[in-house]
Amino acid sequence: MAQAAAYPPIFDGHNDTIMSLTRTGRSFFERSAEGHLDLPRALEGRLGGGFFAIYVPPPDAQAAAGSVPAGPDLGPAQTEMLSIFGRLLEIAQASGGRVQVVRTAAEIQACLDGGPFAMLLHLEGAEPLDPEGRALEVFYAAGLRSVGLTHARRNAFSTGVPMRAFPSSPDIGPGLTDAGKTLVRRLNTRKVMIDLSHINERGFWDVAAITDAPLVATHSNAHALCRNPRNLTDKQLDAVRESRGVVGLNFAVGFLREDGARDAGMPIARMADHVEYMVKRMGIDHVALGSDFDGTLVPAELRDAAGLPKLVAAIEARGYKGGDLRKLLQGNWVRVLRETWGA
Ligand code: ZN
Repeated sequence: MAQAAAYPPIFDGHNDTIMSLTRTGRSFFERSAEGHLDLPRALEGRLGGGFFAIYVPPPDAQAAAGSVPAGPDLGPAQTEMLSIFGRLLEIAQASGGRVQVVRTAAEIQACLDGGPFAMLLHLEGAEPLDPEGRALEVFYAAGLRSVGLTHARRNAFSTGVPMRAFPSSPDIGPGLTDAGKTLVRRLNTRKVMIDLSHINERGFWDVAAITDAPLVATHSNAHALCRNPRNLTDKQLDAVRESRGVVGLNFAVGFLREDGARDAGMPIARMADHVEYMVKRMGIDHVALGSDFDGTLVPAELRDAAGLPKLVAAIEARGYKGGDLRKLLQGNWVRVLRETWGA
């Protein structure tokens, strides 16, 4: 099946692969039966690259379902981030030219047009960033190009929606702090993309009021089809469209299924339902993929990155082909990143 795949190489909005590699001890360069993503499986599924998250867990990782723990403090967060960041850079370094850390949209496009696998460095939760912005300068120089203000927790900048709260509106908890507003302006100035997946609804609107960049949710779905607070309401989708932003389809079964259950026994067609809904609401220029590979439970039928041809077939079955399919699989990411980064 993989050899027969004829679609444009995919660029993906989110994975937690580096944390999975560390946890399991598997190598990015060897095909594994564990997790979702490694280089061999990416090539089988025509995945040409994507956002690689750097995620520092909160000290109280066992927070009760439906609650939002405090994020890690600055010192421990920076220590852990340096370790994860270094491991990602090591992969590119050890790849012999097969993996490239990308810093511009032109570099991503060159990767997708037959170049190496593209690794875009993303910070999922801004706890390692000091209020003066010095760490951001260092991480930017090392290749960081995307930041989500928070994960499922509260920190100095913002508050995320809780895990395992279903059904629920994303309107849970307070909006941005003053430090959060300052950080949004700093990320704009530095031309670093701001990711709105995970932030609560008040935080979303606070960012929307301040930012000069398109609104982007790298791995979220349509709340109208699955009332998980990680998904975006119609009003939020409208704001993404108006800002020329992008939403990446999250493959998490709990964010796809109408019943919100963490049950992988669901048809891949349900993923196409969310794509179709979001395209109808926002237009073909504002929907992309944001798998959440190695960070969540995906449909059993899809299984892993090597199963991407099945998802593309389900999307094609809704009538998306040619230039429209290319936009969904890669073009919308490249376009929104070019507009955000200015290069
Ligand atoms: Zn996430």
